[in-house]
Amino acid sequence: MKVLILDKAGFQDWLRALAGEFDIIGPAENTKGLLDWNKLEPGELPDFRPGLPKSSIKTFFFPQPETLLEFSARPGDDQAFRPHEPSEGRRARLLAGVRPCDARSVALNSMPYASDPYFLKNRENVAMVGLACTQGCSTCFCTWTGGSPVGSDGMDVMAYPLGDAFALEPVTGRGKDMLLKASSAREAAQEDLAALDALKASAPSSLPDAMDPASVLREKELMSLYNASFWQGLSESCLNCGTCTFLCPTCYCFDIQDETLKGKGRRIRYWDSCMFPLFTLHASGHNPRGEKVKRVRNRFMHKLKYFPDRFGPLSCVGCGRCVRDCPVNIDIRQVMKDLLAI
Ligand code: SF4
Ligand code: SF4
Repeated sequence: MKVLILDKAGFQDWLRALAGEFDIIGPAENTKGLLDWNKLEPGELPDFRPGLPKSSIKTFFFPQPETLLEFSARPGDDQAFRPHEPSEGRRARLLAGVRPCDARSVALNSMPYASDPYFLKNRENVAMVGLACTQGCSTCFCTWTGGSPVGSDGMDVMAYPLGDAFALEPVTGRGKDMLLKASSAREAAQEDLAALDALKASAPSSLPDAMDPASVLREKELMSLYNASFWQGLSESCLNCGTCTFLCPTCYCFDIQDETLKGKGRRIRYWDSCMFPLFTLHASGHNPRGEKVKRVRNRFMHKLKYFPDRFGPLSCVGCGRCVRDCPVNIDIRQVMKDLLAI
């Protein structure tokens, strides 16, 4: 399928047509005035302003919480255990206006979760219409980590703003099917394609402070810095609040607990964080990461060393959420620079 051009009214009609198949979710201002993921009314456009929603899209792939099974010890209940099917009771969802860094995080998380039935089913259940970034924020650095502000990894359809309209490129077969419902779209003309090429070429330069530490970090023997005093200094100010890991699209650690009430209950999987002291506490009482410095080191070593060693890319897409919201201004970009300089 060729590149299509759709104006805003046509985009609205397209989303309205897709609402029969999907719940449409996109960036919109919440009651606190923050841009975040919200269910959109049929025909409502996502908020296209530059900048990332407060939360990442991981909540649609790792729901907070995910029910794994239900159980009952009540007399008369004929089923003591009932496995909860992945995505049970959820309608298919369309995320509209996904930025390239967030979509790429799904591709990265698919590596460790390649055989997790809940993640896989949720992935299948979510379609994504991407929105290219033409204006990076001061905290964006996707190009440092192997991404691009116009990247389409993980998307079904990619939208590029061209003046008051959008150029739409199908990325997957599902995306092609979705575009069949864009009834008012026209095929891109030569001048549209030229404008699209120019946008793709210029978008990376809108990001501040171009640098490519990813390849260098992969070469550098970070394990030799495992006991460096650098980690102690870095960890001094960290509050271990976990904000960075909960907002991070590529942090995927979880815990499992049983919730019970009056003889019935459910087993849930929910987000956990390596920044919390209890995360690694053993039943014996031993805690291999009992000190804050070990937890802070682990967060960065996982992203920059352990994950790349196992899967290839850094476990960071440069979205900058941890930079934006860390209460004590710990900045992973500075950590990368410092590690390269030691
Ligand atoms: S957000 Fe900042 S203070 Fe909180 S755990 Fe992360 S690095 Fe530490
Ligand atoms: S580590 Fe920070 S910048 Fe990297 S993906 Fe996570 S939240 Fe985004």
